[in-house]
Amino acid sequence: MLKEPQVSATSGMKSVVLIVSKSSRASQMLVRRMEKAGYQVVSAKTDLDAVECLGRHQVEAIVCHTQQARNSALKLLEQLRDRESDACIIVVGADEGAERAAALLRAGAYDYLTLPIRTGRLEESLRQGLDTRRSFIQVRELSGRLRNANEDLAHERDTLRRWSQTLAQLNHTGQAMAGTLNADEIIRLLRGRLDQIVKYDRLGVLWLDPERIWVYTADASNEAVQEEVKRTLLATGRRLRGASSASQPDQQGSGEHPTEAAAVAPERSAHVLEVPLLVAQGQVGLIRLERERGASFHSDEIEIAKAVATSLALALRNAETHSQVQNMAMTDGLTNLLNRRAFSTILTREFKNTERYGTPLCLVMADLDNFKKINDEHGHLIGDRLLKETATLIYRAIRAVDVVARYGGEEFAIILPRTDTEQATILATRIREQIANHVFVVNGAPVRLTMSMGVSRIPHSSVTSPDDLVSAADAALYQAKARGRNCVEVSPDLLTHAEAAPAGAGGASAGSESRVYG
Ligand code: GH3
Ligand code: MG
Ligand code: MG
Repeated sequence: MLKEPQVSATSGMKSVVLIVSKSSRASQMLVRRMEKAGYQVVSAKTDLDAVECLGRHQVEAIVCHTQQARNSALKLLEQLRDRESDACIIVVGADEGAERAAALLRAGAYDYLTLPIRTGRLEESLRQGLDTRRSFIQVRELSGRLRNANEDLAHERDTLRRWSQTLAQLNHTGQAMAGTLNADEIIRLLRGRLDQIVKYDRLGVLWLDPERIWVYTADASNEAVQEEVKRTLLATGRRLRGASSASQPDQQGSGEHPTEAAAVAPERSAHVLEVPLLVAQGQVGLIRLERERGASFHSDEIEIAKAVATSLALALRNAETHSQVQNMAMTDGLTNLLNRRAFSTILTREFKNTERYGTPLCLVMADLDNFKKINDEHGHLIGDRLLKETATLIYRAIRAVDVVARYGGEEFAIILPRTDTEQATILATRIREQIANHVFVVNGAPVRLTMSMGVSRIPHSSVTSPDDLVSAADAALYQAKARGRNCVEVSPDLLTHAEAAPAGAGGASAGSESRVYG
């Protein structure tokens, strides 16, 4: 009976059956039966031939005849197992007992048929064996796919876990930066946290308005490298300002996207990442990360840097706004000097320092003489201009450590830390002279102004608070006005302290305890 051709599940061709027998007669008989059953048949005489056949043909089943050599089937089974062959193996041979049959089945044979094999028995066993093999291969493939899917899942889970850690770190960094209004502190926080998220060797931050630059290098002692990064950022700042002034206000500047820029100094860093700092108005700065060696910045790292840049831009913008508001709250609008509130704060601080360290502190109260007349004669606007000019003259005359404020109207206060009465009087006299000698010009005509000044000082037995110090200087100023103006008067009592009168001082005032200069 001619059977349907036995088709391989994998190749779609006839299934290949390998006949292994040392006996030509048995081999021919088996070949005939298998061909008749619709298989493609190859044959081998020895185990070696058989193993070779496995390499050459897609053998799905092996019929192994073991008539003479008892152990040859077992040996072949072992070799096949070593080669991880999945061929279905049917052993045919003389009846050698159940033990022998069990040993062969344990070694991997699908079936053991004893000779003579009744018609159809081998074919039936082979068909079942091939079916079982097919199912086995399918299960193996499925479990392989399952294993791959599990590996992919594990990988995804790792990636997600890493991203969630990164997001938590980003979140903390953003919160920390938003928690302070001090720009230096913001950069310090950024530096401390960013290198846990992105690896870099150098960090530079550029803020455009007002221009500020922060540079951090792993090797902090290498000032040359720091300078180089700083120069690069300065150049970028110039380029960005040029670009923004050239572009329309509502257009995005060309530098507003992160770039893995070619390093400006390639010998210094292998990889550079520049990310713009953006707020609603557009680009306000830039973060620059440099990596000396290793891989270039990965797309994940670029995303992280962008997220950091968003938080940083907002934090720095808030800090900037805060500092502007603070400056405005401390500054006098007309003269740009510190206002009275800032004066009080600074005087209180300096007063405490003086108490703590025992260093002297002088205060000068200065008031323009007969200023009302200026307003009356030239108008208030001219008066304002002359007040501004006076403020500039005073500001230029004092030292860097001194503090000048507009105390009110046409009255100024000058705090002189670590200064004794003598030095304070010399300084006040110099300012008085400069104002008196200055030619103010109003409508093309020269106008002269003079100023009276009162000096007070601590330590002083009757001065126990900043208000006392102001009152003492005010009293001296009052004395100066009373003396006829355009002079410097030292607070009463101070001269009883062992302080010499300054060289070139004017005559003593009427009061025995005070003295007027100038
Ligand atoms: P004295 O020598 O006694 O100080 O005379 P004075 O005229 O300067 O003093 P007074 O207190 O009588 O007048 C102060 C004047 O300073 C009155 C006011 O018009 C003027 N003044 C105060 N603040 C301003 C200001 O902000 N702008 C202008 N233009 N004038 C001011
Ligand atoms: Mg005045
Ligand atoms: Mg006044």
